[in-house]
Amino acid sequence: MEHKQEKYDFLIVGSGLFGAVFAHKATALGKSCLVVDKRSHVGGNVFCRNIQGIQVHNYGAHIFHTSDKEVWDFVNQFVPFNRYTNSPLAKYGEELYNLPFNMNTFHQLWGIKTPEEARKKIAEQRGKYANINPQNLEEQALQLVGHDIYKKLIKGYTEKQWGCKATELPSFIIRRLPLRFTYDNNYFNDKYQGIPEGGYNILINRLLENSDIILNTDFLQQREELMEKAETILYTGMLDAYFNYQYGNLEFRSLRFETQLLDIDNFQGNAVVNYTDAETPFTRIIEHKHFDYGTQPKTVITKEYPQPWDQTKEAYYPVNNDKNEQLAAKYKFLANQEPNVIFGGRLADYKYYDMDEVIRLALDKADAILKQ
Ligand code: FAD
Ligand code: UDP
Repeated sequence: MEHKQEKYDFLIVGSGLFGAVFAHKATALGKSCLVVDKRSHVGGNVFCRNIQGIQVHNYGAHIFHTSDKEVWDFVNQFVPFNRYTNSPLAKYGEELYNLPFNMNTFHQLWGIKTPEEARKKIAEQRGKYANINPQNLEEQALQLVGHDIYKKLIKGYTEKQWGCKATELPSFIIRRLPLRFTYDNNYFNDKYQGIPEGGYNILINRLLENSDIILNTDFLQQREELMEKAETILYTGMLDAYFNYQYGNLEFRSLRFETQLLDIDNFQGNAVVNYTDAETPFTRIIEHKHFDYGTQPKTVITKEYPQPWDQTKEAYYPVNNDKNEQLAAKYKFLANQEPNVIFGGRLADYKYYDMDEVIRLALDKADAILKQ
């Protein structure tokens, strides 16, 4: 839809979940929204492509999980979610393990069967790291799970994913993963989990149904003209780009996706298989049909190759180390003084948010702004 009005209440830069949720809340209260995105489609990183009836997660696997009932109810009013539970496998050379780290993994690694045996084994494995205050991801991982798991399931994957030594990464990244002494392969601890039936585009299209949309347009290239279009701007693009990188670049990690349509019906028997050795150049293979129990005759797989980010590539993962956090704080100081511009979302906040966190933040931001 092209823009129909001269002036809108909100110009929303970015049609990802943050922008789309805000647009929904604003239009529901009778406000007018013009959404601009530089990509050729709406949805940001949750966008799916339909290949032979299979919903292909175009920017990497997206599994919705949350313990926030309000967020869960919010998304379910637009699209039903299926019962998908993420249970990835890890391949280390020819060895295959269950994730996250649980009794199945410990049995496969060490042949042990009871939680007591597992606790004892991990205590031994932690060794001198048991009582330290971890300063980086490597120390944190060694403290949580000890040497064998770190070596086979964490070090190779992490160093490929982030392109640096695990000793140079913040410890919080690894604390995302559960450690359990039950035979439970559910990757998440959250109360609610699933994939939208029919794909994420249904959710995004419903959220944006009362907004006007302009695609293939970079706000930063047409900033003055577009800013004239609304009283208030909601910006969900990159924080440093908004300020012309005046203090320097915030670092990101990027990914290259290699997607193939295969003439077989089942390639790996699971939606997600991680390749945790250092030698395999990709981190994981996604087989998309297993996200929604597809029975199509063919299958689509995507290999994810981590790569360094530069301005010609998509910025996927913020590298939240001390240096970047300090730089982000300087930009956030500027952002707070920017009149009539609201900043939000994964890129503008420079935060490693999951989808449910982004939705929660967008709902709260909309409540705060719209009741004024
Ligand atoms: P985005 O989705 O990035 O949207 C920002 C939009 O702004 C984009 O469409 C972009 O084109 C547009 N834009 C940026 N700059 C400009 C500009 N200058 N002009 C115009 N448009 C602009 N979360 C989960 O909960 N579960 C998962 O399994 C999961 N997996 C993930 C896997 C990967 C590989 C990645 C990268 C993220 C994953 N996430 C996952 C996180 C999830 O993608 C985000 O939390 C969420 O999509 C962020 O929404 P957003 O609106 O903040 O940003
Ligand atoms: N990780 C790992 N081995 C794995 C999966 C994850 O070491 O098999 C580490 C890695 O450092 C990764 C972090 O755990 O960056 C968080 O993993 P998650 O699956 O949450 O990453 P995302 O889905 O955000 O890519």
